[in-house]
Amino acid sequence: MATCELCGKTAEVVTADIEGVELKVCSHCTAHGIVKQRVALPMAS
Ligand SMILES: [Zn+2]
Repeated sequence: MATCELCGKTAEVVTADIEGVELKVCSHCTAHGIVKQRVALPMAS
């Protein structure tokens, strides 16, 4: 979980290109841009 850089909601985020700016956004906000990749979350090892 992380904070969406677009709406500020705490959610699962992905890296997306929003109007030319790379932001980590929630699934809802990806509708406003292009998803580049899922954010790699550190796994417990
Ligand atoms: Zn959002």
